[in-house]
Amino acid sequence: MAKLAVPSMFSMRHFLVLSLALNVSLILRTTYYESEEGSKRFCLKKKMMADADSEREGHFIHKARLAISTTFSLVNSTRSGGKERVINLDHGDPTMYERFWRLRGDKTTIIIPGWQSMSYLSDTSNICWFLEAEFAKEVVRLHKVVGNAVTEGRHIVVGTGSSQLILAALYALSSPDAHEPISVVSAAPYYSSYPSMADYQKSGLYKWAGDAESFDKEGPYIELVTSPNNPDGFRRRSMVNRSQGLLIHDLAYYWPQYTPISSPSDHDLTLFTVSKSTGHAGMRIGWALVKDKEVAKKMTKFIELNTIGVSKDSQLRAAKVLKAVSDSCEQENSKNEESFFKYSYKLMAQRWKQLREVVEAGELFTLPQFSPAFCTFFGQEMDPQPAFMWLKCEGDIEDCESFLRGHKVLTRSGKHFGASPKYVRISMLDTDETFIQLIDRLLAIQERE
Ligand code: PMP
Repeated sequence: MAKLAVPSMFSMRHFLVLSLALNVSLILRTTYYESEEGSKRFCLKKKMMADADSEREGHFIHKARLAISTTFSLVNSTRSGGKERVINLDHGDPTMYERFWRLRGDKTTIIIPGWQSMSYLSDTSNICWFLEAEFAKEVVRLHKVVGNAVTEGRHIVVGTGSSQLILAALYALSSPDAHEPISVVSAAPYYSSYPSMADYQKSGLYKWAGDAESFDKEGPYIELVTSPNNPDGFRRRSMVNRSQGLLIHDLAYYWPQYTPISSPSDHDLTLFTVSKSTGHAGMRIGWALVKDKEVAKKMTKFIELNTIGVSKDSQLRAAKVLKAVSDSCEQENSKNEESFFKYSYKLMAQRWKQLREVVEAGELFTLPQFSPAFCTFFGQEMDPQPAFMWLKCEGDIEDCESFLRGHKVLTRSGKHFGASPKYVRISMLDTDETFIQLIDRLLAIQERE
């Protein structure tokens, strides 16, 4: 039999590198499947709960805790710090998506030669003259693939994160000729950055006016509508609903892994960000879909004055990432590879299941309840599974944040969201390791209290 000719460029070193790569990929897969297996073992825990009717509650929680410790033994063995470790989930840093992107290898790698992207300008014929055409193309394509926003008849304005676009929108919607700053409102619990974003610079153009539900001042106002909402995850519509209202729809979380997609959003001014859609918060890229030409012009002017445009390097990288997401959705069936949204939906589903089981194991905490709805992207009824848990401390715990801080869990108090300090917001988007530690810690707290 003829021997297979191995080209001379294939040295022993190449084989070693290849073997190492295969091993790493095997370890990653094992970890991934281990967490899937984890969910199966949680079913065991559920059965245990049913059997536990006649047992004392403390004993019962102890059993649940043991089940979870077993479940995550693999991850446990790599943990450091144990009970003493401070678990910081105050911010919503979306590190849980890292594994997906690692497994995709070079699909989202870009190389930018030193001579490229040197000019300030991208397309001077566009209102947003610093918008990279490739990025704009992938934004339109992704919204079409997901079905979560109408892009026809919209101007795209790119921003350094949607944070910059919120400020640009406040600037664009307010009038320099008004005799007083326009009121900025949002229904409580609202995203905790809105009040400081509106008031930080003590602008003469706009002013934070608090909870939209209790806002009764006559005249023009700007309402920030966050849907699904940060912190509590509920779908929202504008609350004030008066004729002189100007609306900013902040749809940072209107993606299939967090909420059923009901229809393409079709508002005057809508904001999205890669931070929460793909998890690339460090890229600092967001985009606005703007109906009105003059508003788009003013937003562009704001960004021009603020940062003279938006990093082209980041826009090119974002284009590549969005393209990979759209490709993963379109090629899911042919390539037998999970799409980004299926992967992230499953991970979120697993986390919410684990969280609910732990919270329901005691009486110290409660979580919001959501109704399932039809998702046009997945083509079936799905449960909402927000990026944050909006946890309530029950009974006589009045300050949930300090209570949890006492157990070395850092969260953000409800008072920053215009709500009661009995609530805290906790990120659901951190690494597996941190999430598992949180679950473990919540069980330990219930056991102790
Ligand atoms: N809006 C909402 C509702 C958010 O939760 C966030 C991020 N926490 C932002 C805007 C800002 O996102 P970015 O990283 O794009 O600035």
